[in-house]
Amino acid sequence: EGLKVRFPIKRRGFSRERQFVKAVDDLSFRIRRGVTFGLVGESGCGKSTTGRAILRLIEPTAGQILFEGTDITKLSKEQWNKTRKEMQMVFQDPYASLNPRHTIERIIEEPLKVHQVENVVERAQRVRQLLEVVGLDHYHAKRYPHQFSGGQRQRIGIARALAARPKLVIADEPVSALDVSIQSQIINLLRDLQQSFELTYLFISHDLSVVKHICDQIGVMYAGRLVEVAGKNDLYKQPLHPYTRALLAAAPIPDPERSKERIFLREEAADVAMREQGCPFYHRCPSAFDRCIGERPALDLVAPNHTVACHLYT
Ligand code: SF4
Ligand code: MG
Repeated sequence: EGLKVRFPIKRRGFSRERQFVKAVDDLSFRIRRGVTFGLVGESGCGKSTTGRAILRLIEPTAGQILFEGTDITKLSKEQWNKTRKEMQMVFQDPYASLNPRHTIERIIEEPLKVHQVENVVERAQRVRQLLEVVGLDHYHAKRYPHQFSGGQRQRIGIARALAARPKLVIADEPVSALDVSIQSQIINLLRDLQQSFELTYLFISHDLSVVKHICDQIGVMYAGRLVEVAGKNDLYKQPLHPYTRALLAAAPIPDPERSKERIFLREEAADVAMREQGCPFYHRCPSAFDRCIGERPALDLVAPNHTVACHLYT
């Protein structure tokens, strides 16, 4: 609810004023239990920052993060440690996220230890089970990450995430580093695991064609804000926001430098106005009109389970 994350930026020159970039700017959305919510947008739009803020790897500047009704930003350290194990992350790069010096067994066992889930014998058993659950033979347990393919390594990353029996799994571009042929295997695995373990997913991706196969509900982000949120069928059949349409058309979106003729205020004035009030997509929008410069579109409900932030619809 109203999530904001600002990062300080360093500026050259003599300005003493601290400058910030609004990585996530007033984001509100809801993920219902058992569904997969896809968060989609170009790199730098704030989707990974949102995922990391939910796990409190980044402290939000403002807003609430409600998990089963409790604002986790207000939890004490002890309370948070308990809740934390119910939310796990699967990372984009299975190469970078697995310690090359540890065996697979040790890697998967680590979260079990951290959360004091079971004793030694039980832990070894759990590791074997987890390997089987993600489609790897348990004799792999004594091997090292470099002995596995990219797809297998992502399976190991998923096994590690499941070790603490989470309710929510945040998957940040989990298949982007993989060959296309392997991507669908991992997507299918995630779907099966969702069924078996009643998982809820936040699935982060820059690619709308990837999330199509796994998400129930999709939020499209642009410049730190949600610009459209809808159920999967509505979003693909009737995308409303010009940015969503451009993403789906996989057509190059107009270059902001070249579309400057469309600005009818003096350029600087328009930039300032837009930064604070106007539509953040203005510079690239093929449908922009006067109102878009000075008035920021709010995320409004335009159909059941379909919200969009664009003046074309309000
Ligand atoms: Fe384009 Fe205006 Fe809609 Fe923004 S509000 S997406 S500039 S039409
Ligand atoms: Mg990212």
